[in-house]
Order: sequence, then C-alpha cells, then structure tokens
Amino acid sequence: MLQLESFIFNPFAENTYVVYDEDTKDCVIIDPGCGTTNEENQLFGFIDSHHLKPLLVISTHGHIDHIMGNEAVKKRYNIKVAAHPDVKGDYGHVRQQAMLFGLFTAADCAFPERDLNDGDIIQVGNSTLEVICTPGHARGSISLYAELEGWVFTGDALFCRSIGRTDLEGGNYEQLRTSIKERLFRLPDDTEVFSGHGEPTTIFDEQRYNMYIG
Ligand SMILES: [Zn+2]
Ligand SMILES: [Zn+2]
Repeated sequence: MLQLESFIFNPFAENTYVVYDEDTKDCVIIDPGCGTTNEENQLFGFIDSHHLKPLLVISTHGHIDHIMGNEAVKKRYNIKVAAHPDVKGDYGHVRQQAMLFGLFTAADCAFPERDLNDGDIIQVGNSTLEVICTPGHARGSISLYAELEGWVFTGDALFCRSIGRTDLEGGNYEQLRTSIKERLFRLPDDTEVFSGHGEPTTIFDEQRYNMYIG
C-alpha cells in the first residue's frame, strides 16, 4: 500500500504530494511547488529522513505554482519530470506566468521529458497510479488514480466544493465539467480526492455538494 505526505508550498498555497511505498521506499513527487530554500528543505528532509527513492516528478498541469520546484527536485535526485504532452505551451510560458503573478522569475524550470497519456500506468513500488486525462482548467491537465488505495490526485480540476478556474489560457468550463462528470465522478464513491489546493474530500461528497458542476 502507498503512503502519502502532503506539503503546502508557495504563495498560492499549493499542495505538493509525496506518494511512497513503505516497503520498497519507491516514491513519486506530484507537483513540487517548493519555491524557497526553506520549502525545498522541508520536502527533501522528508524524502531523505524516510530513506525514500524518488522515481519521477509528475506534473498534473503546467501552471507555475505546480512546477516551480521541478528543477530543484530534478537536480537533487536526478529524476525526470513526466506530464501530458499538451502541457508544453504552459511550460514554455513559465516566465510570463511568473510575471503575471508577480513572482520571482522562475527562469529555470525542468521541462517534462516523459509523456503521460490517458490510461498510462505508473508503477510505484507494489502499487500503481493510473493517468486520467481531465482537461478544462489547463491544457494537458491529468489526474492520477491509485486504485488499490482509493485515492485520486486531481490537480486543479476538482477541489473540495469547488473546481479549477477556467479563465486562464487553455481553460474551458464545458471541458472541465465533462472531465469531472465523465471521468472523476465514475470513480468509486469512497475514493478520496487530493486536490492541488485546499482540503481533501471524496467523490461521494463532491457529487452531492459541489455546486459548480451541476
Ligand atoms: Zn492551475
Ligand atoms: Zn494551482
């Protein structure tokens, strides 16, 4: 079974997740948003003190709050970044994104070197994460489903009682609604949802109480 550790990083209060197998120590880092040395130390301190073996960085999408720690993680552990091929536009505009949000210039941001497509399976120790394409908030947005654990990582597609904004480049409300209804809401009711921002929730609760989907 996988274990999970979460961190809240950068001015956007972005959730960074470390998903690991306690037996094999294999781990992946989902959306490393660490933007300061202090935040990097928190993330690396956890990984190192648990003797984890990072395999991959996984990007749920290419927004700066989810990718600003890519370079630091890649350098420290010599691992690749994996993402859907459609994120490349956002990755290519990382400087503009930084300026738009008044952040420091994130000049160096490790680009994805491994493509993830719908249905791809990422092995983490004795468990798996399945790639589910959930576009609408950003181009190339993916969710990651851990079937054995009953977890789904939704990036900025679905939040507790909210959904991702669709007014940014590549956003599309109808597409996001379809992603949530046709893909995420078909997962088992008791699936725990871990979002890119905010508290965890469940598919059951969002089907009933999320007012943004209808
Ligand atoms: Zn986003
Ligand atoms: Zn975000």
